[in-house]
Amino acid sequence: MEEIRKKTLKPLAGMTLYELRQVTESLGLPKFAATQLAQWIYGKRVTTFEQMLNISKVGRERLAEQYCVGLYPPKSHVKSDDGTVKYLFDAGNEQAVEAVYIPDDDRATLCISSQKGCRMNCYFCMTGRQGFHGNLTANQIINQVLSVPCSEQLTNVVFMGMGEPLDNLEPVLKVIEILTSDWGLAWSPKRITVSTVGVKPALKTLCERTSVHIAVSVHNAVPEERQSLMPIEKLYPIKGVMELLGRYDFAHQRRLSVEYIMWNWFNDDIRHAEVLRELLPDEHVRVNLIRYHPLPEVAKLRTSSDERMAYFRDYLNGRGVTCTIRRSRGEDVQAACGMLAGKVK
Ligand code: SF4
Repeated sequence: MEEIRKKTLKPLAGMTLYELRQVTESLGLPKFAATQLAQWIYGKRVTTFEQMLNISKVGRERLAEQYCVGLYPPKSHVKSDDGTVKYLFDAGNEQAVEAVYIPDDDRATLCISSQKGCRMNCYFCMTGRQGFHGNLTANQIINQVLSVPCSEQLTNVVFMGMGEPLDNLEPVLKVIEILTSDWGLAWSPKRITVSTVGVKPALKTLCERTSVHIAVSVHNAVPEERQSLMPIEKLYPIKGVMELLGRYDFAHQRRLSVEYIMWNWFNDDIRHAEVLRELLPDEHVRVNLIRYHPLPEVAKLRTSSDERMAYFRDYLNGRGVTCTIRRSRGEDVQAACGMLAGKVK
């Protein structure tokens, strides 16, 4: 009986200040109690109402009748030789999602998931191969940030884990509000990057309602070739996505980057570099070249050689495009780009 009651409790973590106020008002708690809740949950990351000492005992009892704090630790983790740690979080219905902690000098980045699986069906991606099993709630997304052991040391969050964040827009916007509000974690939006394959209407909303950095997965700028890898090209061609992004200012407040996984003799010659250059809306866009992590069960594509990647990079650099080869992290524990599958072996 107690188990059933616990399962019906609504989590407070993941609520905005406005929503917390609605909760406290409905329970007859004083107005300032919502701010106190936000401070305990987002500031101090406490996991029980008993720890919230400045909220009256009666208030805590009323909260506990209908709500829980909603912060829970990862089920398991595995550490890579390079210091990257992959955490597995319970996502209900026997599903799990992954968050990847990537320490790098003075930066500590957490790559978080927004969906269980993904419906974008990109050919090269392990998550896409799993199919779609549902959206994560704002609680399940913010919990990844607040409940990893190194939570208070995080400097950056990237929505680049399992799922397409712009296919689950409202919870993602809510989490960005929690991360950037004074009553939440009070982060600068410059510490947050949302990565997308280019879900155009949701991307427009994201650009208008936030000023986070944006990373667009292009991977091949030739439309018919891109479509063979990424079905989204048919619905929202990358050319139209880039034209949309060209209307926003990426020179000052925020950054636009293009993600480009490199496959041997598939998208790594000068013709592809030139089509990619023409696609970029202006000179402020950065191009990140990414080494492909082969998964035998996923695709027969092979990664480009170091020489071909360097040549591609130098070609773009020579024409005024900032282009770098991104260092690969966590490959030995399948935590690298395109390898997340909701499993820790
Ligand atoms: S690459 Fe991203 S959008 Fe494409 S299937 Fe994988 S998780 Fe989904």
